[in-house]
Amino acid sequence: MTSGSPTPIDFRSDTITRPDDAMRVAMSDAEVGDNVIDSDPTIVALEERAADLLGMEAALWTPSGVMANLIALSLHLSRGDRFLAPRGAHVLTNELGSAAWLAGGMPDPLEHDAGPGRPSPAAVRAAVGPADGPYYALRTTLLSLENTHNAAGGAITPPDEHAQLVAAARDRGLNVHLDGARVWNAAAELGLPPAALTVGVDSVSACLSKGLGAPVGSVVAGTAEFVERARRMRQMLGGGVRQGGVLAAAGLVALDRIDQLKGDHENARTLAAGLRELGWDVVDPQTNILLASVPDVSLTLEHLRGLGIRALPMAGKVRFVLHREVTADDVDEALRRIREDRR
Ligand SMILES: *Cc1c(COP(=O)(O)O)cnc(C)c1O
Repeated sequence: MTSGSPTPIDFRSDTITRPDDAMRVAMSDAEVGDNVIDSDPTIVALEERAADLLGMEAALWTPSGVMANLIALSLHLSRGDRFLAPRGAHVLTNELGSAAWLAGGMPDPLEHDAGPGRPSPAAVRAAVGPADGPYYALRTTLLSLENTHNAAGGAITPPDEHAQLVAAARDRGLNVHLDGARVWNAAAELGLPPAALTVGVDSVSACLSKGLGAPVGSVVAGTAEFVERARRMRQMLGGGVRQGGVLAAAGLVALDRIDQLKGDHENARTLAAGLRELGWDVVDPQTNILLASVPDVSLTLEHLRGLGIRALPMAGKVRFVLHREVTADDVDEALRRIREDRR
């Protein structure tokens, strides 16, 4: 082995993926307009494509997934409304409380009683009381799902369970939002169109800037009426961008790459198997996220860093995220470094 610091292998997040040459060419060639005054043709093309893939009537480009979720929650919730979401959901733990602070909702987490990242339909029904309770009863109006569930290790909710959760929510008069930041990963892994995982929802958000590799951008989709209201909200939040087509062009390239996510899942399985062989306590990855339980997360992260392996903490564990800038060879190399280090 050569001396000096080893080339870093970066498992921190699929958000670190940089636009490649093909994407940059598409960005530089993009036809653009002013998407606030009237419209930008490339943003329009992206929104139509995303709506189609997600099986929704219309979609809206947003600069980030956090903004997409905030817009959806703001439109679904009135001040003081209670909403349900699986424990550890991004809207509960990673959006700085905006669901309460800005959208006015009172969050209540649901346990994962049906499996990792998955509350049961019975739990949804039980969480909402009868429609006409006493005056001090909470008004519960929304179920916010997450597929794949990030903090549960990229866990998939399969379409049949998704449908049952939506049915339970409807039964109790709730609207349903799906945080589908990585719904593309779930679709690729199951070999289904993304629309198969959004059946019955009122709105869905999805990221273009994670595993799909766009530098910027998410979408929020729903009915045409919902998206019109969402457009006004995006403008209020400062998310109306002018020549946004430059960014949407990257999104269009990204949407051609959904199938390629399977490679990341394969690499996640290889990493899991390798780490387990080395005595690590890992959860079997369902998609591109691998969680490892260790006695001291910061100590392990620091140690890995010394080996040129970067990861982040998540839900009290070490989280490795596989993405298009980590190759199968990189995974082998990371495993080799950890193995050598033990000798
Ligand atoms: C990353 C992520 C978001 C937010 O996306 P940003 O583009 O980082 O704002 C929302 N939900 C989930 C589940 C995520 O993993």
